[in-house]
Amino acid sequence: MSNRFIVEGVSISPDHLIGGKRVPSKETFAVHSPLNWSVELGRIARGDGETAQQAVAAAEQAFPAWAALSSAERATYLHRLADLIEERKEDLAIVECMDMAMLHESLRLRLIPRGALNFRNYADLAVDYKERVWSSKGTANRVVRMPAGPTVIITPWNAPFMLSTWKCAPALAAGNTVILKPAEWSPLSAALLGDLIVEAGFPAGVFNIVQGIGEEVGAGLVSDPRVRRISFTGSPETAVHIGVAAAKNIVPFTAELGGKGPLIVFEDADIDAAAKKAAGQFDDSGQVCLAGTRILVQASIRDKFLELFHHYADQHVMGDSRDESTTISPMIHPVHMARVAGFVERARKNGDTIVRGGKVFKEGGLWYEPTLIEPKSNASEVVQSEIFGPVLTFQTFVDEADAVRLANSTKYGLSGIVYTSSAERAERMGLAIRAGTVWVNCFLVRDLTAPFGGVGTSGIGREGGDYALDFHSELKTIQILD
Ligand code: NAD
Repeated sequence: MSNRFIVEGVSISPDHLIGGKRVPSKETFAVHSPLNWSVELGRIARGDGETAQQAVAAAEQAFPAWAALSSAERATYLHRLADLIEERKEDLAIVECMDMAMLHESLRLRLIPRGALNFRNYADLAVDYKERVWSSKGTANRVVRMPAGPTVIITPWNAPFMLSTWKCAPALAAGNTVILKPAEWSPLSAALLGDLIVEAGFPAGVFNIVQGIGEEVGAGLVSDPRVRRISFTGSPETAVHIGVAAAKNIVPFTAELGGKGPLIVFEDADIDAAAKKAAGQFDDSGQVCLAGTRILVQASIRDKFLELFHHYADQHVMGDSRDESTTISPMIHPVHMARVAGFVERARKNGDTIVRGGKVFKEGGLWYEPTLIEPKSNASEVVQSEIFGPVLTFQTFVDEADAVRLANSTKYGLSGIVYTSSAERAERMGLAIRAGTVWVNCFLVRDLTAPFGGVGTSGIGREGGDYALDFHSELKTIQILD
């Protein structure tokens, strides 16, 4: 008898996908919706060390045949999967909305379609790859990309479908076989993706999904010596564990980690646009690694900026993520909300000024009020630590050098946002901010061929375009005597 369960009319498999087959686990874990925590949506397989071994064995067995296909042959599978994602867009959107509470409209229009685009982008990039060919020292030389082997992809709970597809696509396109382990707080879109993988006709074992707890099945996967690449997105704390496991087996790994991005507004900027974007950092309840959570404003425009910021922040509507009028969704989990509230409580005790918000919106719900804090000093915990909730800090700076000093004063370096009307300043700030990505007068504009990653505690390595395809390959030089 099928053990599938239904979420908003969509049938979900609780099982792993290993070697092309649904595989259950004896143990399961409960999935709740942040929209109504008292309701259990279903139970999902809780993999263990044995599950991890089974999945790696399946990926290892499937690897030679998948690696032997041409990029164009592999691309047909990736495009077929993209077609199916587009066909099932509505199901994926509502399931992800129930599971982790991102805004339904944003999922339908932006994040689920981006999942399809991720597969198309890497399928085409792999096909378009031009080998470097040249002659030197009497030899004809070429650089070829060889598939690396079974690859483990570990993903976080925020934007789970977009991020999982973004990370799996380059590995598959490069000729690696994949084991995806989604986060246990939002496993449902990956469960649905498993059905689409089967429907797309991927050869058994090429694309596996195991469900479960990070410290259990996740730890089993990353420590398996048969694994040849590990690609991780999540917290710096987990990256340390995975980095140690990868080091033991001498396996390359990338880590896309947390951020504490500055959003810098100069007096010559379009202050209204900057204030609107700053208030927009509360979107998704601030559970966005790239968010500009430290608002840095030139002292001369402090009052004007704050007035506009409050104007835009006042327009936010906390509510059910399925309602089109909602702009702020609930947070993922009671444990996470308590963590966010803890930051604000400690800020209060520290003498930081809570300018707006600072409390749970409605008892029993997972909404936290959009909160702005003016810290006592740049050393305050709320300035230096990633909160990953709807909590922003506000500081002023005197001049460009002061802005750069504050911008670069945390251990993170994922992204930065600058508002200025000066092209020269835009150029200088783009270079001066210590981050993997700097946006000037815009935010979240993404070109999938551009490198993406962090500096410092924000990560190791780069995703995006050829950078990801290179990571998932063994680059080989072949030299033949002329
Ligand atoms: P997390 O580190 O707690 O968990 C991430 C994943 O790692 C989960 O799937 C978890 O099950 C797994 N995991 C945990 N312990 C493990 C272990 N010992 N071995 C193997 N796997 C293990 O992170 P989270 O709370 O899910 O995500 C939030 C964090 O992710 C934030 O810091 C956020 O900034 C970051 N993030 C970064 C990016 C980026 O692109 N840089 C994108 C999204 C989120």
